[in-house]
Amino acid sequence: MKPLLNFNRMKANFLDLVQIDSLSKKERAVALVLEKALLKIGAEVSFDQAGEAVGGEIGNLIARFPGTDPTRPTLLLSAHMDTVVPGEGIKPICDGDVIRSDGTTILGGDDKSGIAIIIEVLRTLKEKSLSHGDIEIVFTICEEFGLVGAKHLDCSQLKSKSGIVLDCDHADFLFTQSPASDRMEFTVHGLEAHAGVCPEAGISAIQIAADAISRMSLGRIDFETTANVGMIEGGAAVNIVPKTVFVRAESRSHNEEKLDKQTSHMRRCFSEAVDKFSVEKNGKKITGRITEKVWRDYNRVNLPGSAPIVRAVLQAAERCGYSVKTNATGGGCDANIFNEKGITVPNLGTGMYQIHTVDEWLDFKETCQTAEVLLEVVKTFGTEAS
Ligand SMILES: [Zn+2]
Repeated sequence: MKPLLNFNRMKANFLDLVQIDSLSKKERAVALVLEKALLKIGAEVSFDQAGEAVGGEIGNLIARFPGTDPTRPTLLLSAHMDTVVPGEGIKPICDGDVIRSDGTTILGGDDKSGIAIIIEVLRTLKEKSLSHGDIEIVFTICEEFGLVGAKHLDCSQLKSKSGIVLDCDHADFLFTQSPASDRMEFTVHGLEAHAGVCPEAGISAIQIAADAISRMSLGRIDFETTANVGMIEGGAAVNIVPKTVFVRAESRSHNEEKLDKQTSHMRRCFSEAVDKFSVEKNGKKITGRITEKVWRDYNRVNLPGSAPIVRAVLQAAERCGYSVKTNATGGGCDANIFNEKGITVPNLGTGMYQIHTVDEWLDFKETCQTAEVLLEVVKTFGTEAS
């Protein structure tokens, strides 16, 4: 059977999209191109206030594509417009079904592959006059910058109760489980002193931080829990006992109890380390001190197999002749936020690999597979077939 979708057009669109720079907070150029494309298909397009809230160029793009069948539920389709660094001046190189960058930048398949799929599905629905329910499209800003575009999205303006995010690797996987994440910022306050003349009068914030981090369980804690200290900065000069160190860290787990335990452990390492280093001043013992900021970055996702959208995707894939299975990911994405806000949204892979590196590549065969599956979902969601 000849596929309904135009894969050559989807590829050309993808190649165009990755060549429009769109680092987080700088999504305006790509957003305007997408607005034009969506208007041409017959969608209604608007932008929300998220851009102002996060100090970016433009807000989330929200589009409504009217359905042919008003009895069907509205379906949300979402992908993010921003990319990580180095993501400026991307020159995609096609080698058969493999698309990569020239090695100096990321490719931007994360997440322009998801956007290209959604646009191609909408174009096909319109051109072939296929039957479908109302579709809401959200192309977010700043996903890579702490999911803040989605966090600022006013979901009460959306009608959808179900949706699909396209923002993951394997096209054979529908990610229905994703961890919760805690973020931590520690500021270690030591005591400044001349490192050569009177080091005994100082308390090294770097030493406290080093002690704390060296005793921390980090990396893969168990099959569902991870932790990372991702940023550290501090000190003023080599001849000054450092007064301040700033540390950013995160923990993630699919299990709330384990997440609490890991976060507490990391906090405790800092509070214990601070007691180990002290100086005497006027007969009084002085130690350093820690100020910390700890917050829940996003909640976990754990969708049941019985959720209508999960069943719809798996069955659509089967009808298309693909074996798509549910899976768990260690990553967080906009889907975490949509689910938190009451819209049931799994995350379907698009064939993007080695993302967030200059070796990122796209398996375009997988991108086509996901486009086929998505089209089938959209055609059937809310009908007997799904
Ligand atoms: Zn992504």
